[in-house]
Amino acid sequence: MAVARASGLETVVIGGGTNLIAADSGFRGIVLRYRGSRLWAANGRVQAEAGAELQDLVDFAIGRGLAGLETLAGIPGSVGAAVYGNAGAYGHSISERVLRVRFYDGRTVRVFENEECRFQYRESVFKRHKDWIVFSAELKLEAGDAHALREKAGDILKVRNEKFPVTMKCAGSIFKNLLLRELPGDAAAQIPESVVREGKVPAAWFLEQVGAKGMARGDIRVADYHANLIYNAGAGTAADLCALIRELKTRVAERFGVELEEEVQYVGTAG
Ligand SMILES: Cc1cc2nc3c(=O)[nH]c(=O)nc-3n(C[C@H](O)[C@H](O)[C@H](O)COP(=O)(O)OP(=O)(O)OC[C@H]3O[C@@H](n4cnc5c(N)ncnc54)[C@H](O)[C@@H]3O)c2cc1C
Repeated sequence: MAVARASGLETVVIGGGTNLIAADSGFRGIVLRYRGSRLWAANGRVQAEAGAELQDLVDFAIGRGLAGLETLAGIPGSVGAAVYGNAGAYGHSISERVLRVRFYDGRTVRVFENEECRFQYRESVFKRHKDWIVFSAELKLEAGDAHALREKAGDILKVRNEKFPVTMKCAGSIFKNLLLRELPGDAAAQIPESVVREGKVPAAWFLEQVGAKGMARGDIRVADYHANLIYNAGAGTAADLCALIRELKTRVAERFGVELEEEVQYVGTAG
């Protein structure tokens, strides 16, 4: 970091790159990637280094009959990024299991307890300090039946693989879902009760209302079966993707007065 600072170049921290939109012109600067990937367990606690694959952590916990991470099965990327973005699925997020996080703030290595991480839906203090590097997390899990946990994770994987075929070039959901309680009254009044899950309205619902499904710009396409899934059909560019994202945000803002927020993160000047 000292060398990076002295160089005057920009820096960016990445994990597996599964949730990034990188500018077509690339990123002129220093890309930092923490590669430590050890996992170890003692007394119902699991320590995970940030460079480990989240799926490896899920499998590690299940293999030891430790419950609490199985709903995260199939979320691509690293443990560090999962902490950074409070990754989750099926009503649960990693923050529910995090006891503390060890990270580097550019000067010194620090440890934050769960509350200091200020986790919220797909948010954390780390997202507001993009120059910090998560090194590891300590998680608290409960005893569970490995066979039943494996089955649950397997069922989730099956559903996920239908939504995101493994060969599809996509970054998962482009936009964050929205918290019903934070929506303007007019917009909230239009939302059918049946689409609200755990107090959240899927961004896909808004996108569907503005005709997003099947939209395209160059080779960048919105899936025709899911309005919050944008993929690259071959030779798509970041410029096309960003233009499509802007168009969708404008349509939703004009129709509902709602500002969609990207879940994906930009690298370079793509955004
Ligand atoms: C098919 C598909 C399905 C997905 N489904 C889900 C889902 O169900 N739920 C969900 O939450 N996400 C989902 N995602 C998004 C993605 O899996 C998560 O955002 C994941 O946490 C990204 O991990 P990564 O290592 O690839 O991070 P990257 O894409 O490399 O980086 C993401 C962000 O994390 C930061 N970061 C990475 N490592 C560190 C570190 N060590 N310290 C500090 N900051 C760091 C980066 O700066 C960047 O801003 C999906 C993605 C895909 C492609």
